[in-house]
Amino acid sequence: MSADMDLSCPAPLGQYERILMAHGGGGQLMQQLLDRLVQPVFDNPALSARHDSAVIDCGGQRIAFTTDSYVVKPLFFPGGDIGKLAVCGTLNDLAMAGARPLWLSAALIIEEGLPVGDLEQILRSMAATARTAGVAIVTGDTKVVERGRGDGLFINTAGIGLIEPGRPAIQPAAVRAGDAILVSGDLGRHGIAIMARREGLDLETAIESDCADLSGLVLDLLDSGIEVHCLRDLTRGGLASALIEIAETAGVGMQLDEESIPVREDVAGVCELLGFDPLHVANEGRFAALVPGDQAERALARLRQHPLGAGAAGIGRVTGTAQPAAPVHVRTRYGTERLLLRLSGEQLPRIC
Ligand code: MG
Repeated sequence: MSADMDLSCPAPLGQYERILMAHGGGGQLMQQLLDRLVQPVFDNPALSARHDSAVIDCGGQRIAFTTDSYVVKPLFFPGGDIGKLAVCGTLNDLAMAGARPLWLSAALIIEEGLPVGDLEQILRSMAATARTAGVAIVTGDTKVVERGRGDGLFINTAGIGLIEPGRPAIQPAAVRAGDAILVSGDLGRHGIAIMARREGLDLETAIESDCADLSGLVLDLLDSGIEVHCLRDLTRGGLASALIEIAETAGVGMQLDEESIPVREDVAGVCELLGFDPLHVANEGRFAALVPGDQAERALARLRQHPLGAGAAGIGRVTGTAQPAAPVHVRTRYGTERLLLRLSGEQLPRIC
């Protein structure tokens, strides 16, 4: 076989010769990029689990390990800033694997000209968020790029957490027919807060991002003894992308009840104005939990005891049979049924 006939070459990336913004949007194109290029190139069992964190066995101790980059625009927004976002996002990905977060890294890519006062405010925000969560930022890196090449500041964080011995694996593969689908609170606020600020929308009261560290709430739920099959934070692509990905990985179907999905009236209003579906809008302090149906009420009661879970709701259930092309169905408030699909284009760029 000649060098230019490598049969392990991944399938081509559809009709696109170059990367588009939508390849980072959490929708269909990003999924294709991951499935057809990233996953085959790096292929290994931890990556194939398609979880928010890789879970690695280290001499009998399970470690959760994750990384994420933050390019949100603007750097400061109602309810947070890029620093708080970068710490919370990585804490949340660790929590979704059932891990207790312990250590983070922080890498800064700074654009020449960024006010030092802004940088200091962002670093202090990172430190405060980490301190409250009981984690330490133990290593990092700083790079500066020329003016016009970096849009202020990009941050990458990685995180390590430990999974308590004996805790059953929390992962898409553990999802079963009959599981209840819960969300920890109202949806869509992060995406709409960023969008409203960026577009200069004149709202009666500013919508604040839901950006928050979910690890305390998740550990509360796990410590209560409820059997949690899968967790996923509802970031880029929102509830829709998260549930479709879990359903595809687990080989199950899902039935949602639109009326029971919590969306604040002001958020729903802006979504309608801008033509967004709140189920596709990013959150940075919300997650979905899949638990056995007969434990749903107990799980909801436990979530609601925590300030970050006060608005928790049951929104649907896992069904045994799945249509591979569209595994998630929604019963609308008008009693009709619609299919929940991944975003086909880029809805909200630079949201996290
Ligand atoms: Mg995640």
